[in-house]
Amino acid sequence: MAEKRDYYEILGVPRNATKDQIKDSYRKLALQYHPDRNKSPEAEEKFKEISEAYAVLSDDQKRQQYDMLGHAGFDQRYTEEDIFRGADFNTIFRDLGFDFGDIFSHFFGGGFGGRNFNQRSNRGQDLLYELSITLEDAARGSEKEIEIPRNEKCEVCSGSGAAPGTQPKICSRCNGQGQVQNMRRSPFGMFVQVTPCPDCNGKGKIIETFCKNCRGSGIVKKKRKITIKIPLGIDEGYQLRLRGEGEAAPNNGEPGDLYVLVHIMPHDLFVRDGDDLYYVLMLNYPQAVLGATVQVPTLEGPTELKIKAGTQANEVIRIKGKGMPRFRGYGRGDLVVRIGIIVPQKVTREQRILLEQLAREFDQNSQSKSSYKFRI
Ligand SMILES: [Zn+2]
Ligand SMILES: [Zn+2]
Repeated sequence: MAEKRDYYEILGVPRNATKDQIKDSYRKLALQYHPDRNKSPEAEEKFKEISEAYAVLSDDQKRQQYDMLGHAGFDQRYTEEDIFRGADFNTIFRDLGFDFGDIFSHFFGGGFGGRNFNQRSNRGQDLLYELSITLEDAARGSEKEIEIPRNEKCEVCSGSGAAPGTQPKICSRCNGQGQVQNMRRSPFGMFVQVTPCPDCNGKGKIIETFCKNCRGSGIVKKKRKITIKIPLGIDEGYQLRLRGEGEAAPNNGEPGDLYVLVHIMPHDLFVRDGDDLYYVLMLNYPQAVLGATVQVPTLEGPTELKIKAGTQANEVIRIKGKGMPRFRGYGRGDLVVRIGIIVPQKVTREQRILLEQLAREFDQNSQSKSSYKFRI
């Protein structure tokens, strides 16, 4: 992977540029390289690059982080790594008052079908798959098999579109160039206009006998099973990029990428906060007063927890290392157990007698006053 270029250099602004300078420069470059306007093969990459640079430099906090740490400051968001939280390009564009429609959804998928934005640069469309996994899946770093419908290269003709044993022939009108030149008159004089060749539709080749399997397109729709490796400790909202697993491109071009957006399903027992898991343990009154040994669930099954005598409601007990594995780190977070006290809504005759006896006892000894303060 090539060294990442400096964001200031990409936008052509000095390091002390004002927000307006950055915005102006970005606007100019975006209009110049937007793939709807610019048909050169590098335009799309260039456009992504300037958009990424702008996403960072237009945000005070991110810019400061970038100034201090460079690209390393964006470990999760903006490196070439394949796991990242997506940048919200749509918001950036709305803020700038651009109306490019839904073009960015195509960078990050955009579902199946729809306008094939990448076709111009002869690269297959990127796909987005939203994958819901359990907390256990994220804790164990499991594998998931998904099935996606996608365009794949036709195996019968190896993507050429020509029937096996035949070859597409070079288009005679454009000599295989795929484009033709026309002279045009304009108020500023004559100029040469280059357009895709109408005979071969810009392909440069003409297929005389179509491959029956793909009807000459070189591409077939397939349902493909793909195994996704779930990185240990992954959290809600991360995207995994599987290079080359998107849609096949016409004319044997480069396939697109598959983006897997990970969602973590809510858990019955635990609430997650970063690397820690939270659990509410309900004790009955005698257990809290006298202390007890109780069972607490963990991701690996129940574990014993000693409750000391005089444990208060809302008290917090941390069980070290029983939380989530640290994403891209070592070790695990904690299981944070918060104590709740069970107040029975119904009691038996026997329990009532005992409780009333206890109440009288407390009254006599004035022990019923709690020193516990309200905490939020
Ligand atoms: Zn074929
Ligand atoms: Zn042609």
